[in-house]
Amino acid sequence: MNLLEQQLDYPWGDTLPEQGASLELAPGIKWIRMALPFALDHINLWLLRDEIDDPDRPGEKIQGWSMVDCCISRDESKAQWEAIFSTQLEGLPILRVIVTHMHPDHIGLAYWLCQRWTTANHVCRLWISATDYQAACLASQSTTSFGGDKAARFFASHGLTDPESVEKIRGRTGYYPSMVPEVPPSFCRLMDGKSIRIGGRDWHCISGYGHAPEHIALHCAEAGLLISGDMVLPRISTNVSVYDIEPEADALTLFLTSIDKFLPLAPQTLVLPSHGKPFRGLQTRIRQLHDHHRDRLEEVLQACVASPCCAADILPIMFKRKLDLHQTTFAMGEALAHLHTLWLGGQLRRSLDSDGIYRFRSAPG
Ligand SMILES: [Zn+2]
Repeated sequence: MNLLEQQLDYPWGDTLPEQGASLELAPGIKWIRMALPFALDHINLWLLRDEIDDPDRPGEKIQGWSMVDCCISRDESKAQWEAIFSTQLEGLPILRVIVTHMHPDHIGLAYWLCQRWTTANHVCRLWISATDYQAACLASQSTTSFGGDKAARFFASHGLTDPESVEKIRGRTGYYPSMVPEVPPSFCRLMDGKSIRIGGRDWHCISGYGHAPEHIALHCAEAGLLISGDMVLPRISTNVSVYDIEPEADALTLFLTSIDKFLPLAPQTLVLPSHGKPFRGLQTRIRQLHDHHRDRLEEVLQACVASPCCAADILPIMFKRKLDLHQTTFAMGEALAHLHTLWLGGQLRRSLDSDGIYRFRSAPG
């Protein structure tokens, strides 16, 4: 546990749900943990006991579960879901698939799950923000999301110019569809301020920006729970990146403004994050994240004041460890997010130099 984590409370300590099983956190709220084949090696998924109106029998309810987030599409995750379905659902069906945002570890299996649980008298629907639904549809049909020529040119314009990296990024096609081969053909819309009734309790949608196009966290005041998705994580800081599709984005300002929306929630709220362990100490964690980014912003500002920097120049300042290409592209996005906050906030100015690279230097005055 790192020093900052010691300021948080992990009510379950080091206990994790077993593979193919779940851990009940509160009545009708189950925690599932699935492996991911990345540096970030797991994702948390949630089962919420639910009941919905039976369309064929007025006044009657269909009993079942709503699930939150899906894991990436691969055989291992499907097998783990099947194990969970046969032992953890108390013989009841999945009624709907709620997805916090469009990243592959969250939406990957949504198509398979919705199909798997749709019956003659019930459509198992995907629930997601409209923005992330559209983004997932586009990305799953594109061969160039997170790679390809456009991404290679974007990174090169920010200083990632060594020919081997450029070639590899250009050749990295089909990355998103490999983990999200299909998206359900229709959805139910989640949006900020909307409440959905799950298992007889109201869950309130809270939108968040800077990590995904329109991330939705779910808060249940009655149960004292926040499903925070990737917006508040206890151990690592959320990836906040600028991508080629929105090259002037101020992702970090959006992110920091978004997490402040959680500040008014009750201090005892149990936070259910997508990575790491359920914890209490939401306001402490939000303060830590502000401190973290304020320190990074100060480092980046000092570097650019000392001499003009492109994003690639910032990498060794922000990231002390050695990065592989995959991590480098994420790190470039993060470096740009910090540079852009300073640039768009007026502390740095940006120029496109004669070598075709954007550099940031201290703003006059
Ligand atoms: Zn994410």
